[in-house]
Amino acid sequence: MIEIKEIKQPRRIPFFGMIGGMFTVFRHAFQKPVTVQYPEKREDQGDRFRFRIYLSTDDCVGCTLCEQVCPNLSITMMLLDKENPRNKRKIYPSVNFGTCTVCRNCEEICPTDAIYLKGVFETSRTRNSFFYNPLELEKNEEDVRR
Ligand code: SF4
Ligand code: SF4
Repeated sequence: MIEIKEIKQPRRIPFFGMIGGMFTVFRHAFQKPVTVQYPEKREDQGDRFRFRIYLSTDDCVGCTLCEQVCPNLSITMMLLDKENPRNKRKIYPSVNFGTCTVCRNCEEICPTDAIYLKGVFETSRTRNSFFYNPLELEKNEEDVRR
């Protein structure tokens, strides 16, 4: 027969737990905050941080490699009526930043370095405008918002 023994828990006095909680709050009140007052203050992102995709329509040859290599189907080729002897089909990538995971496959595969990423992260736009056409990809973020 199995004998069940009752394990006696040490008696806890609630008052000491309350004092411990108050001490923790008091200690944190004098600590430096881990957050910053964005956008007045900005944390350094580090040299290798990348987010925003840019495109040079002068260098793009319309090979569609960036579209093919994108794992999230974030790149779609678009017709753009631009005189560019290197791009006879006149097709250029557009990017949906809503699905892009910043894997940089497009940058690495591009044979002419026409598509590349930079450390710009402030691309806050409305929900329906995460899509950037080739001309918007060519501009700085401040000019796209206008
Ligand atoms: S960084 Fe990656 S996910 Fe984003 S568009 Fe390029 S290939 Fe697609
Ligand atoms: S951006 Fe580069 S990889 Fe994409 S279509 Fe143009 S040349 Fe090809």
